[in-house]
Amino acid sequence: MARTVRVGCPICKKPVKSTDAEFPFCSPRCRTIDLGKWASGDYVISSPVKDTEEGIRGPSRGDSEDES
Ligand SMILES: [Zn+2]
Repeated sequence: MARTVRVGCPICKKPVKSTDAEFPFCSPRCRTIDLGKWASGDYVISSPVKDTEEGIRGPSRGDSEDES
């Protein structure tokens, strides 16, 4: 039984078959758009991690910059 799973393209929501060459995207174009989103930081995992990093880095950085 060859069952075809259908999902929506993450970019344009167009139905895509799991047998599609560009699955889960409907076209190479949508795949490229998705890659661009990752590259530009559109998909940020979480901000709390960044806050912790800044808390550690902040003080030491400020000290070295105040040496004038
Ligand atoms: Zn698409």
